[in-house]
Amino acid sequence: MPLYYVWNIGCQMNAADARRVEEGLEAMGFRRAPQIEQADVIVLNTCVVRQSAEDRVWGRLHSLKPVKRRNPTAFLALMGCAVGDPKALAAQFPYVDAFIRPSDVEGLLRAVEQSGLAPAAPARCGSERSGEPRTLPQPVPLSEPCPSDEGEDSRAAVPPSPVSRGITAIYGCNHRCTYCIVRLRRGGETSRPVADIVREACQTAERGAREVVLLGQNVDAYGRDLNPPQDLADLLYAVHEVEGIYRIRFLTSHPGDLSPRVIQAVRDLPKVCEHFELPVQSGDDGVLRRMGRTYTAAEYRALVAAIREAVPGAAIATDIIVGFPGETEEAFQNTYRLLEEIRFDAVHVAAYSVRPGTPAERLPDDVPPDEKERRRKAVDDLQKRIVGEINRALVGQAVEVLVEGQKKGRWFGRTRTNKLVFFEGAGDWLGRLAQVRITWAGPWSLVGEVTP
Ligand code: SF4
Repeated sequence: MPLYYVWNIGCQMNAADARRVEEGLEAMGFRRAPQIEQADVIVLNTCVVRQSAEDRVWGRLHSLKPVKRRNPTAFLALMGCAVGDPKALAAQFPYVDAFIRPSDVEGLLRAVEQSGLAPAAPARCGSERSGEPRTLPQPVPLSEPCPSDEGEDSRAAVPPSPVSRGITAIYGCNHRCTYCIVRLRRGGETSRPVADIVREACQTAERGAREVVLLGQNVDAYGRDLNPPQDLADLLYAVHEVEGIYRIRFLTSHPGDLSPRVIQAVRDLPKVCEHFELPVQSGDDGVLRRMGRTYTAAEYRALVAAIREAVPGAAIATDIIVGFPGETEEAFQNTYRLLEEIRFDAVHVAAYSVRPGTPAERLPDDVPPDEKERRRKAVDDLQKRIVGEINRALVGQAVEVLVEGQKKGRWFGRTRTNKLVFFEGAGDWLGRLAQVRITWAGPWSLVGEVTP
């Protein structure tokens, strides 16, 4: 039986794409290889959002050269945001068999089929066709976990779960953030029809998923390119009707596009979690302007206030870039103050790195590396203190946890506000909602006991 290996890094959309690749290859009759060297089909699903991610991609690709030399019939594909100019890449990496644009899962599967490596009679999953509910599958992590360098998920280090599934709602982005290479690689906004997304949500529910995460580079732009136009609130209402799904999340939002209708949908729809991923990037108007963000710090504060008024207790997470060109100490302090004031539930902080081809490449990268690191660490330390305080306030409270799996003998899952909770419990909790009383709280996770 031919084997595959999918190596994936990057955002949740990449993780969702990689999972679709794995499922497509499994449906073709491939099975997962324990080691990359043993695979007949190797897919590197890549991210170049920061220099550190890009370095890992090229390092991984170079390391496969001897593998390909030893096994020349193996099929090696480079997919994702590293694929800018396929012709130039083909000249640079002649041992790579296919270069596939981000999210083009069908293109990847077609290329594998054309390679002649696929088994003659593709394996089919009968229960998927019959529509019969299936028992929850064992967690099948991606061949390599998706690292979010700054994310709290990575700090808590829990494996991916079949209980929570990302579904891409919209590809690409029409914004012009000057530092962003993603929109250059992924192109403009293209929404999937509501019916397609609902169908996929139904299928994932039949396979045992209990949470759907609607994904987009700018998920708030969902539907404006459809005919007739729709919006994210319409999509949330439609997915809310899917039986078997207990929870819905959506990410990532753009502060300039998150509409009052969507906030109302979060307030009114019981399955939609009170959890917003709302990157602010900077708390300084001059930096925001140079970044090409379309809001001011005051407008962002007003949006947060509107969310908190409509949805009390909502968790708000954000992204910060420190050391953007021209970020003075005063500008950095504006960001620091905003973080102190808003008290986010999670902050993903990164030091700015120049991305080739972006408009910001023309700006002088004038914040020295050690100063960028100092600012990154200052944000990190501040956030650790704040989130520790927020979490400690939960001690003694009972929270609803959707159980995603087991680690070291303990069950783990997330609250509606996306906080990771561990607890001990007899029986099979996978995919179930548990009421857990919190007994201990740290910055990256909580511990509790099941209440009767
Ligand atoms: S909103 Fe800005 S940062 Fe996000 S994908 Fe679009 S262009 Fe890039």
